[in-house]
Amino acid sequence: MEVEIATIGGYEAVGRQMTAVRAGDDVVIFDMGLNLSKVLIHDNVETERMHSLDLIDMGAIPDDRVMSDLEGDVKAIVPTHGHLDHIGAISKLAHRYDAPIVASPFTIELVKQQIKSEEKFGVQNDLVKMSAGETMSIGERNELEFVNVTHSIIDAINPVLHTPEGAVVYGLDKRMDHTPVIGDPIDMKRFREIGREGVLCYIEDCTNAGRKGRTPSESVARRHLKDVMTSIEDYDGGIVATTFSSHIARVKSLVEFADDIGRQPVLLGRSMEKYSGTAERLDFVDFPEDLGMYGHRKSVDRTFKRIMNEGKENFFPIVTGHQGEPRAMLTRMGRGETPYELDDGDKVLFSARVIPEPTNEGQRYQSEKLLGMQGARIYDDIHVSGHLRQEGHYEMLDALQPKNVIPAHQSLEGFAPYVDLAEDMGYKAGRDLHITRNGNMIKLTE
Ligand SMILES: [Zn+2]
Repeated sequence: MEVEIATIGGYEAVGRQMTAVRAGDDVVIFDMGLNLSKVLIHDNVETERMHSLDLIDMGAIPDDRVMSDLEGDVKAIVPTHGHLDHIGAISKLAHRYDAPIVASPFTIELVKQQIKSEEKFGVQNDLVKMSAGETMSIGERNELEFVNVTHSIIDAINPVLHTPEGAVVYGLDKRMDHTPVIGDPIDMKRFREIGREGVLCYIEDCTNAGRKGRTPSESVARRHLKDVMTSIEDYDGGIVATTFSSHIARVKSLVEFADDIGRQPVLLGRSMEKYSGTAERLDFVDFPEDLGMYGHRKSVDRTFKRIMNEGKENFFPIVTGHQGEPRAMLTRMGRGETPYELDDGDKVLFSARVIPEPTNEGQRYQSEKLLGMQGARIYDDIHVSGHLRQEGHYEMLDALQPKNVIPAHQSLEGFAPYVDLAEDMGYKAGRDLHITRNGNMIKLTE
């Protein structure tokens, strides 16, 4: 059987991930993401009003025109997890394919909300839920399987397409977490089994390939957070925290420790309400019944007023704005645009790392300076990454023993340390280690 990989997006930079695998006559698409920085840089652009082709030219969504060179039928569109660089283009591109969107329950719910908020593109593909450990037939000879992985969002999976020529493992976005705060540990046992059955190709996320050692577990970030929060337990002024809204495990830790230090947690900001509300509705997390979640500007400001009236020392606002996004809650607080007044010595906890990208770095710098000018003390980097470092990459190659490897989810510069690592393990660039760009085809078997 002919097996061919189209590397469509995410092979020149992190963002707008999309890869298609053709096995015989069947094609499966993995991820359909957005490159958020290409959108943010035009601060007057409303992507929901733009045509797909203009968004492609802008570099915001994958250039899927190469799909017309793949001779087969698309049988499924499979996003691996709910981050926007993996699902953000579904609402703008999926209608071009007559195929269902297949994803884990939390991811499907986020896809559904995304499609609903951008109805004008007319995406009406069926939405099919499939959990980790489950399989689905793709055509007559191929099978799709979801393997449980751990990442900085719940319900993440790595999809595997089993073909008669061996498995194609799409390995984007995971860390090797054996003690996650929510959900099951990464299923290394299954990866090793798949390795023994035979892997034709492994597509790997190179985000942290240049970093030595191992990415710590989420339970390490949780302990770090506990240490910080306990150390300021006796402070009698304002304490505010921010993190990735979609990072439900981290939000859960913040909520729990707020209670431990005698403060009432409250979630503020549109995306805080969206992700935590969805996770709670789907029973992924059990928040205290009286946990307030407010997204609309008016209800947020009303809550801030209540906090000021009842005493800042009684509350623990968890807000949006960890990257200094101009319209997020923490940035508005820094600019003095909310009823919440910061005083000298108030604490601001960033349970996040700055995403290393110039727009984010600039905005985050500005946000921290504005908060500092009001007297806030900053605690940053209370965080662990969601992506494998070198020893994790080594373990994955050792478990899977793939015949071919394709580095992904990075720039050419970002691929370099992964290429060194893979060559150390016996692969050779140009032979079985395929360094590629957006819009290429790689034929694995004839
Ligand atoms: Zn991700």
